[in-house]
Amino acid sequence: MKVNNLKNHIAKRSDFTSIILSLSHISFVFFPLLLSTYFDSIILTVISFIWVGIFINGIINLMHESAHRLVFKKKKYCDFLGEFILGPLLITDFKAYRNRHWVHHNKLGSEEDTKFIYKKKIKGLNFIIFFFECMFLKEGISKFIHQFSQGNKTKISLDFFVKTISIQAILFSLIFFSQLLVLNHNLKEIFMNTVLSYVFVYLYSLASLGVFFSSLRAIAEHQVNNNDEHLHGHAILRNLKSNFLTNLIFGSYGFADHATHHEYPSIPSYNLKKLRKEIEKNNDDLKPKKGYFEILKDCIV
Ligand SMILES: [Zn+2]
Repeated sequence: MKVNNLKNHIAKRSDFTSIILSLSHISFVFFPLLLSTYFDSIILTVISFIWVGIFINGIINLMHESAHRLVFKKKKYCDFLGEFILGPLLITDFKAYRNRHWVHHNKLGSEEDTKFIYKKKIKGLNFIIFFFECMFLKEGISKFIHQFSQGNKTKISLDFFVKTISIQAILFSLIFFSQLLVLNHNLKEIFMNTVLSYVFVYLYSLASLGVFFSSLRAIAEHQVNNNDEHLHGHAILRNLKSNFLTNLIFGSYGFADHATHHEYPSIPSYNLKKLRKEIEKNNDDLKPKKGYFEILKDCIV
Protein backbone atom coordinates (compact mmCIF):
# COMPACT_ATOMS: atom_id res chain seq x y z
CA MET A 1 0.00 0.00 0.00
CA LYS A 2 1.25 3.49 -0.88
CA VAL A 3 1.87 5.75 2.11
CA ASN A 4 2.30 9.44 1.33
CA ASN A 5 4.57 10.50 4.18
CA LEU A 6 6.52 7.28 4.64
CA LYS A 7 9.76 9.24 5.13
CA ASN A 8 8.35 10.87 8.28
CA HIS A 9 7.47 7.46 9.69
CA ILE A 10 10.93 6.04 8.91
CA ALA A 11 12.65 8.95 10.73
CA LYS A 12 14.18 7.82 14.03
CA ARG A 13 13.97 9.62 17.36
CA SER A 14 17.14 10.88 19.08
CA ASP A 15 19.70 8.27 20.13
CA PHE A 16 19.74 9.79 23.62
CA THR A 17 16.02 9.01 24.06
CA SER A 18 16.56 5.48 22.75
CA ILE A 19 19.52 4.86 25.10
CA ILE A 20 17.61 6.10 28.16
CA LEU A 21 14.50 4.05 27.31
CA SER A 22 16.48 0.90 26.45
CA LEU A 23 18.57 1.12 29.63
CA SER A 24 15.48 1.76 31.76
CA HIS A 25 13.74 -1.24 30.22
CA ILE A 26 16.76 -3.54 30.69
CA SER A 27 17.04 -2.38 34.34
CA PHE A 28 13.30 -2.92 34.89
CA VAL A 29 13.57 -6.54 33.71
CA PHE A 30 16.84 -7.47 35.42
CA PHE A 31 16.86 -5.52 38.72
CA PRO A 32 15.43 -8.57 40.61
CA LEU A 33 18.75 -10.35 39.93
CA LEU A 34 20.36 -7.93 42.38
CA LEU A 35 17.35 -7.43 44.66
CA SER A 36 16.89 -11.15 45.29
CA THR A 37 20.44 -11.37 46.66
CA TYR A 38 19.97 -8.51 49.17
CA PHE A 39 17.26 -10.23 51.22
CA ASP A 40 17.34 -13.67 52.70
CA SER A 41 13.88 -14.56 51.39
CA ILE A 42 12.95 -17.57 49.31
CA ILE A 43 9.60 -15.90 48.45
CA LEU A 44 11.40 -12.87 47.03
CA THR A 45 13.69 -15.18 45.05
CA VAL A 46 10.69 -16.99 43.55
CA ILE A 47 8.95 -13.66 42.77
CA SER A 48 12.19 -12.48 41.11
CA PHE A 49 12.29 -15.66 39.01
CA ILE A 50 8.68 -15.09 37.87
CA TRP A 51 9.32 -11.37 37.23
CA VAL A 52 12.32 -12.00 34.97
CA GLY A 53 10.53 -14.89 33.20
CA ILE A 54 7.43 -12.85 32.44
CA PHE A 55 9.12 -9.63 31.38
CA ILE A 56 12.28 -10.86 29.60
CA ASN A 57 10.36 -11.23 26.33
CA GLY A 58 10.47 -7.42 26.21
CA ILE A 59 14.28 -7.64 25.90
CA ILE A 60 13.87 -10.25 23.13
CA ASN A 61 11.63 -7.69 21.42
CA LEU A 62 14.38 -5.08 21.81
CA MET A 63 16.86 -7.51 20.20
CA HIS A 64 14.42 -7.82 17.28
CA GLU A 65 14.39 -4.01 16.94
CA SER A 66 18.23 -4.09 16.91
CA ALA A 67 18.20 -6.84 14.26
CA HIS A 68 16.19 -4.48 12.04
CA ARG A 69 18.71 -1.72 12.90
CA LEU A 70 15.92 0.51 14.15
CA VAL A 71 17.01 1.32 17.71
CA PHE A 72 19.62 3.98 16.91
CA LYS A 73 20.23 6.27 13.95
CA LYS A 74 23.60 4.72 13.18
CA LYS A 75 23.42 1.09 12.08
CA LYS A 76 26.71 0.20 13.77
CA TYR A 77 25.27 1.23 17.18
CA CYS A 78 22.30 -1.09 16.59
CA ASP A 79 24.72 -3.89 15.65
CA PHE A 80 26.77 -3.22 18.78
CA LEU A 81 23.68 -3.38 21.01
CA GLY A 82 22.53 -6.63 19.39
CA GLU A 83 25.88 -8.40 18.97
CA PHE A 84 27.70 -7.38 22.13
CA ILE A 85 24.93 -6.87 24.69
CA LEU A 86 21.47 -8.25 23.93
CA GLY A 87 22.45 -11.40 22.02
CA PRO A 88 24.97 -12.51 24.70
CA LEU A 89 22.52 -11.54 27.47
CA LEU A 90 19.79 -13.69 25.90
CA ILE A 91 22.32 -16.42 24.97
CA THR A 92 21.42 -15.92 21.34
CA ASP A 93 23.73 -15.84 18.32
CA PHE A 94 22.60 -12.40 17.16
CA LYS A 95 23.93 -12.64 13.58
CA ALA A 96 22.27 -16.03 13.07
CA TYR A 97 19.06 -14.65 14.63
CA ARG A 98 19.06 -11.71 12.21
CA ASN A 99 19.53 -14.03 9.21
CA ARG A 100 16.78 -16.38 10.39
CA HIS A 101 14.47 -13.48 11.15
CA TRP A 102 14.83 -12.04 7.68
CA VAL A 103 13.87 -15.40 6.18
CA HIS A 104 10.84 -15.39 8.51
CA HIS A 105 9.78 -12.05 7.01
CA ASN A 106 10.18 -13.28 3.45
CA LYS A 107 8.84 -16.82 3.86
CA LEU A 108 6.10 -16.29 6.44
CA GLY A 109 3.75 -19.25 6.68
CA SER A 110 5.64 -21.33 4.12
CA GLU A 111 7.60 -24.54 4.70
CA GLU A 112 10.79 -22.44 4.67
CA ASP A 113 9.61 -20.11 7.44
CA THR A 114 12.40 -20.12 10.05
CA LYS A 115 9.94 -19.34 12.84
CA PHE A 116 7.67 -22.27 13.56
CA ILE A 117 6.87 -22.11 17.27
CA TYR A 118 3.58 -20.37 16.37
CA LYS A 119 2.41 -23.65 14.85
CA LYS A 120 2.62 -25.32 18.27
CA LYS A 121 -0.77 -26.72 19.22
CA ILE A 122 -1.84 -25.38 22.61
CA LYS A 123 -5.52 -26.38 22.45
CA GLY A 124 -6.88 -27.77 25.75
CA LEU A 125 -4.52 -30.11 27.54
CA ASN A 126 -1.76 -29.32 25.04
CA PHE A 127 -1.41 -25.93 26.71
CA ILE A 128 -0.59 -27.54 30.07
CA ILE A 129 1.81 -29.99 28.37
CA PHE A 130 3.52 -27.11 26.57
CA PHE A 131 3.87 -25.19 29.85
CA PHE A 132 5.60 -28.16 31.52
CA GLU A 133 7.78 -28.76 28.45
CA CYS A 134 8.99 -25.18 28.89
CA MET A 135 9.48 -25.53 32.66
CA PHE A 136 11.45 -28.77 32.18
CA LEU A 137 13.57 -26.95 29.54
CA LYS A 138 12.61 -29.14 26.59
CA GLU A 139 11.69 -26.09 24.50
CA GLY A 140 14.56 -23.94 25.81
CA ILE A 141 17.25 -26.53 25.06
CA SER A 142 15.91 -27.34 21.57
CA LYS A 143 15.68 -23.60 20.81
CA PHE A 144 19.27 -23.11 22.02
CA ILE A 145 20.60 -25.97 19.87
CA HIS A 146 18.50 -25.04 16.84
CA GLN A 147 20.17 -21.63 16.53
CA PHE A 148 23.48 -23.33 15.69
CA SER A 149 22.13 -25.72 13.08
CA GLN A 150 23.39 -25.16 9.56
CA GLY A 151 21.77 -27.70 7.24
CA ASN A 152 22.28 -30.99 9.06
CA LYS A 153 25.34 -29.75 11.01
CA THR A 154 25.41 -28.01 14.38
CA LYS A 155 28.20 -25.46 14.78
CA ILE A 156 28.76 -22.92 17.56
CA SER A 157 30.66 -19.87 16.27
CA LEU A 158 33.73 -18.75 18.25
CA ASP A 159 32.55 -15.17 17.91
CA PHE A 160 29.26 -15.97 19.67
CA PHE A 161 31.03 -18.05 22.33
CA VAL A 162 33.52 -15.30 23.29
CA LYS A 163 30.91 -12.52 23.39
CA THR A 164 28.50 -14.63 25.42
CA ILE A 165 31.08 -15.79 27.97
CA SER A 166 32.28 -12.19 28.39
CA ILE A 167 28.81 -10.74 29.05
CA GLN A 168 27.91 -13.66 31.31
CA ALA A 169 31.11 -13.09 33.33
CA ILE A 170 30.29 -9.36 33.63
CA LEU A 171 26.75 -10.16 34.77
CA PHE A 172 27.95 -12.72 37.34
CA SER A 173 30.54 -10.22 38.64
CA LEU A 174 27.93 -7.45 38.84
CA ILE A 175 25.67 -9.62 41.01
CA PHE A 176 28.66 -10.64 43.15
CA PHE A 177 30.25 -7.21 43.66
CA SER A 178 26.96 -5.38 44.24
CA GLN A 179 26.49 -7.58 47.32
CA LEU A 180 29.98 -6.67 48.56
CA LEU A 181 28.86 -3.04 48.56
CA VAL A 182 25.48 -3.60 50.19
CA LEU A 183 25.74 -6.64 52.49
CA ASN A 184 27.94 -7.62 55.40
CA HIS A 185 27.97 -11.33 54.52
CA ASN A 186 31.11 -13.39 54.19
CA LEU A 187 32.47 -14.29 50.75
CA LYS A 188 31.08 -17.82 50.80
CA GLU A 189 27.53 -16.58 51.48
CA ILE A 190 27.86 -13.90 48.80
CA PHE A 191 29.11 -16.48 46.31
CA MET A 192 26.20 -18.84 47.08
CA ASN A 193 23.69 -15.95 46.75
CA THR A 194 25.26 -15.05 43.42
CA VAL A 195 25.01 -18.60 42.09
CA LEU A 196 21.34 -18.83 43.18
CA SER A 197 20.45 -15.52 41.50
CA TYR A 198 22.48 -16.23 38.35
CA VAL A 199 21.33 -19.82 37.83
CA PHE A 200 17.74 -19.70 39.09
CA VAL A 201 16.53 -16.09 38.72
CA TYR A 202 18.35 -15.48 35.44
CA LEU A 203 19.37 -18.60 33.49
CA TYR A 204 16.51 -20.92 34.43
CA SER A 205 13.96 -18.11 34.18
CA LEU A 206 15.14 -17.17 30.67
CA ALA A 207 15.20 -20.79 29.49
CA SER A 208 11.81 -21.77 30.97
CA LEU A 209 9.27 -18.97 31.55
CA GLY A 210 11.06 -16.67 29.12
CA VAL A 211 10.76 -19.22 26.32
CA PHE A 212 7.12 -19.89 27.34
CA PHE A 213 6.06 -16.23 27.14
CA SER A 214 7.99 -15.47 23.95
CA SER A 215 6.36 -18.55 22.36
CA LEU A 216 2.90 -17.33 23.44
CA ARG A 217 3.71 -13.98 21.87
CA ALA A 218 4.58 -15.65 18.54
CA ILE A 219 1.44 -17.81 18.76
CA ALA A 220 -0.72 -14.70 19.34
CA GLU A 221 0.85 -13.00 16.31
CA HIS A 222 0.70 -15.85 13.84
CA GLN A 223 -1.28 -18.93 14.88
CA VAL A 224 -4.27 -19.85 12.76
CA ASN A 225 -7.37 -20.31 14.92
CA ASN A 226 -11.12 -20.03 14.45
CA ASN A 227 -11.05 -16.30 13.75
CA ASP A 228 -11.89 -15.28 10.22
CA GLU A 229 -8.60 -13.70 9.19
CA HIS A 230 -6.40 -13.34 6.15
CA LEU A 231 -4.05 -16.32 5.76
CA HIS A 232 -0.39 -16.16 4.71
CA GLY A 233 0.31 -19.81 4.00
CA HIS A 234 0.16 -21.54 7.40
CA ALA A 235 0.26 -18.25 9.28
CA ILE A 236 -1.97 -15.36 10.24
CA LEU A 237 -0.47 -11.91 10.38
CA ARG A 238 -2.33 -9.91 13.02
CA ASN A 239 -2.11 -6.70 14.97
CA LEU A 240 -3.20 -6.94 18.56
CA LYS A 241 -4.84 -4.61 21.04
CA SER A 242 -2.58 -4.09 24.01
CA ASN A 243 -2.62 -2.26 27.33
CA PHE A 244 0.29 -1.22 29.56
CA LEU A 245 0.74 -4.71 31.06
CA THR A 246 0.32 -6.80 27.89
CA ASN A 247 2.64 -4.36 26.17
CA LEU A 248 5.30 -4.95 28.83
CA ILE A 249 4.90 -8.74 28.60
CA PHE A 250 4.31 -9.28 24.89
CA GLY A 251 3.80 -6.24 22.72
CA SER A 252 6.71 -3.84 23.31
CA TYR A 253 8.86 -2.45 20.47
CA GLY A 254 6.02 -2.64 17.98
CA PHE A 255 5.19 -6.33 18.44
CA ALA A 256 1.53 -5.48 19.11
CA ASP A 257 1.58 -3.92 15.62
CA HIS A 258 3.10 -7.07 14.18
CA ALA A 259 1.18 -7.09 10.91
CA THR A 260 2.13 -3.44 10.32
CA HIS A 261 5.76 -4.33 11.08
CA HIS A 262 5.74 -7.17 8.54
CA GLU A 263 4.34 -4.83 5.92
CA TYR A 264 6.71 -1.95 6.79
CA PRO A 265 9.83 -3.50 8.40
CA SER A 266 11.89 -0.32 8.06
CA ILE A 267 9.62 1.72 10.35
CA PRO A 268 10.85 2.12 13.96
CA SER A 269 8.52 0.48 16.47
CA TYR A 270 7.43 3.76 18.09
CA ASN A 271 6.06 5.04 14.74
CA LEU A 272 4.14 1.88 13.80
CA LYS A 273 0.92 2.65 15.67
CA LYS A 274 0.66 6.15 14.17
CA LEU A 275 1.26 4.77 10.67
CA ARG A 276 -1.28 2.00 11.18
CA LYS A 277 -3.95 4.46 12.35
CA GLU A 278 -3.45 6.38 9.10
CA ILE A 279 -3.76 3.37 6.81
CA GLU A 280 -6.13 0.98 8.61
CA LYS A 281 -9.22 2.71 7.11
CA ASN A 282 -8.26 1.23 3.76
CA ASN A 283 -6.81 -2.02 5.08
CA ASP A 284 -9.09 -3.90 7.42
CA ASP A 285 -6.48 -6.64 8.03
CA LEU A 286 -4.37 -4.14 9.94
CA LYS A 287 -7.09 -3.22 12.43
CA PRO A 288 -6.41 -4.88 15.82
CA LYS A 289 -9.54 -6.80 16.71
CA LYS A 290 -8.56 -8.62 19.88
CA GLY A 291 -6.00 -8.39 22.68
CA TYR A 292 -3.25 -10.91 23.50
CA PHE A 293 -5.22 -12.78 26.15
CA GLU A 294 -8.35 -12.97 23.96
CA ILE A 295 -6.39 -14.40 21.01
CA LEU A 296 -4.52 -16.84 23.26
CA LYS A 297 -7.86 -17.88 24.80
CA ASP A 298 -9.13 -18.61 21.25
CA CYS A 299 -6.05 -20.79 20.68
CA ILE A 300 -6.29 -22.62 24.01
CA VAL A 301 -10.04 -23.12 24.62
ZN1 LIG B 1 10.83 -8.30 12.14
